[in-house]
Amino acid sequence: MKKIALASIGGTISMQVSNNGGITPQIGAKDFISAIPEIKKIAQISTHNLFSIASGHITFQNLLEAYNWAKNAAKDSQGIIITQGTDTLEESAFFLSLLWNEPIPLILTGAMRSSDELGYDGLNNIYNAITLIVNYPSSLNAGVMVVMNNTIHHPLWMQKKHSLALETFDSMHQELGIIFENKVEFFRPLSSLPKFPNLQTLHKKVFCYEHSLDDEKEILEWAGEKYDGIVIAGYGAGHTNLQTRDTIIKIAKTKPVIMCARTYAGPSAISTYGYLGSEIDLQKEGVVMSKWLQPKKARILLTILLSQNLGIKDFINFRDFITIK
Ligand code: ASP
Repeated sequence: MKKIALASIGGTISMQVSNNGGITPQIGAKDFISAIPEIKKIAQISTHNLFSIASGHITFQNLLEAYNWAKNAAKDSQGIIITQGTDTLEESAFFLSLLWNEPIPLILTGAMRSSDELGYDGLNNIYNAITLIVNYPSSLNAGVMVVMNNTIHHPLWMQKKHSLALETFDSMHQELGIIFENKVEFFRPLSSLPKFPNLQTLHKKVFCYEHSLDDEKEILEWAGEKYDGIVIAGYGAGHTNLQTRDTIIKIAKTKPVIMCARTYAGPSAISTYGYLGSEIDLQKEGVVMSKWLQPKKARILLTILLSQNLGIKDFINFRDFITIK
């Protein structure tokens, strides 16, 4: 039987109603496994409660600790599972996918319903994550994947699209595969993106800002002074307005500025619009368009790159690596 190491971080999958009437993280890895006795027939699971926190409370430091735990656990396992909240699941998964270089799969999962709610989806998701590791096709690269709602997602593409619905994750038609009837079916290979496995600390800070109608420049001026890089979720395909254009260009002369699409679907444009504040104008002035990287992921990538003394050229290399040449 395959050996699997499972760690919990918190999130709705670990939550139950508490004294104040609201749900809070209370259970962890060990509880999940004892609630699914069938698992003993298919895998040998070791459990670890890493943290017991909501998604929004997770820090980069927590993720580095989770990574180090997983790396260590990988020495004696054929697969790793981490459970956490869904609110930042796509960010944790993307972060870990940039570091994970081990020859075994690392699967993240969570739940949209708490463990004492009718129709709790947590155990099904964990069971599917285990099924995925047990039946992982040997022809595929190992890597980081997310299993939710019988679907296997790649961290690069998946996004939480609904605040409360069970079917919340969407990979913009790039789902890797599905798990039904205890069978794993892959539709596409897991692309292996560039990796940064030796990351020790994240000492650089990247500010992520979302444009809204009639924005002013003050917050960007402040962020340009205080942060090491800026990611902007721009209007439409990645545009700014006349009030903030000069500030953005001024910041881009001294530090990385990445412009993304605020639509959260589709890439930023590269060569379509030519008005002031559009991609053709901004790129001439040193701003980099993110293409397929959505703002939250562009921020994580840039934070990791800058923390390793890498920079904008490496961001562009990664960005352009996403599609097959
Ligand atoms: N709503 C969240 C979840 O689904 C709570 C969290 O992310 O911690 O897990």
